[in-house]
Parts: sequence; C-alpha cells; structure tokens
Amino acid sequence: MNKTFSHPQILGQSQSHLVTLPDNHQLHRLVINDWQALQQAAKLAGINLQIASSYRSFERQLAIWNNKASGKRQLNDRNNQALNLDQLTQQQLLDAILAWSALPGASRHHWGCEIDVYDPDMLAGQQLQLEPWEYQASGPMAPLGQWLDNNLATFGFYQPYRTDKGGVAIEPWHISHIAVSSQAAKQLSPSVLESALSHCDIELKTLILSQLSAIFSQYINNVDLP
Ligand SMILES: [Zn+2]
Repeated sequence: MNKTFSHPQILGQSQSHLVTLPDNHQLHRLVINDWQALQQAAKLAGINLQIASSYRSFERQLAIWNNKASGKRQLNDRNNQALNLDQLTQQQLLDAILAWSALPGASRHHWGCEIDVYDPDMLAGQQLQLEPWEYQASGPMAPLGQWLDNNLATFGFYQPYRTDKGGVAIEPWHISHIAVSSQAAKQLSPSVLESALSHCDIELKTLILSQLSAIFSQYINNVDLP
C-alpha cells in the first residue's frame, strides 16, 4: 500500500489520510489495524489502553504555539516548573516552547500515526497531566509504561521521545507507528516547513525562520529511532 504523504498531509493541512474512530479520534488509515491490535492485546493484559491525543491539525498546533508565546497558556521549563515570560529573552522563550511543543507543521501528530496513550482506570479519579513522572517509577501510569516497553515493538510501534536528547523533553505516553512515521519523517524537510511557516501568523516568526535549520536538527530530527 502507498504510504507516501502529500505536503499538506505532512503539515497538518489535510485530513485525507485519516479515518475517524468511534471515539472520534482520527488516525492514519494504515495505522488503524495495528492500533486496534495493540489495544486488544492491552485489554487481554488487563490494561484499558485509550487515546489522549491523536491527529492534530496545523491550525490547532498554531493556536497552542501562539498561546504559549503570548502567556495565555502556561509555559514550563525542562524541569516542569512554570516560567515567567517577563524574565525571558525571545530566544529563551523560543527554546522553552520548543522543549514541549512542536512548531506548527512539524508536529508528528499531524501525520495521524502518533498517539498519546493512557489508561483511564489507572488514574483513580485524578486528572491526567501528561507529565513524565506519571508513567515512571510509582506514578499512576507506571504499569502502562512497563507494558508499553514490553509490547510496542510486536505491534509495529515505538517511542520517539523515550530519551532526553537535548531537544524535545521525554514523552513516555507518545507512541508512533514505525512504518508510517518513517515515511513521513523522510518527507518532512526544512524547506517544506519554511513554506508553511512563512505563510502563517505565528509568534516569534522572524526568529524561527532565521534559525529553522538549527531548530530542525535539535528538535525535529533529534528523536529516538525505531
Ligand atoms: Zn504526543
């Protein structure tokens, strides 16, 4: 089957590669079967594997970006402590946003093959924060984190933000369909991204465009490989 993405699909500006699930989440059509097999295997292991986040559009990512850059949405440092925007240079602000949020057009969630997962039954009434501690050691999602470690590869998935490589902070909840994401990653380039960013109303635009190739190396390409 053809796994090639169009530029709008890579950039979150098209939904033509997606299928909508009964829970209203949208995934790439070539990922649905493997996702459902993973979910079924989890169920047999007593885990209620559910989607916290799946496909996300360019517009949605742009709104997240602009809200963080303008202080409408809380911005944390790499240790998960809230930052005061008044004390940051533009460069520090850019780096702080990039540690947790992708540039619009560069989010792997645009591809439809990336899923943030959790188990609502393990929350025991608490609110899911999507913070690393929840999935580690004695956090509420630790049994899920352990199960993912042992089973993702069997179903064709892996974790691209498993280790801290000085780019995006670790995300133990983020899983990626290997075959489809490998194709998408090959097709996303700085020039494809630049064309989208130069035509949108994004905060820190001049700074972003002036260092796009460095951002690409540190935050976009700098992920764990399958
Ligand atoms: Zn994610």
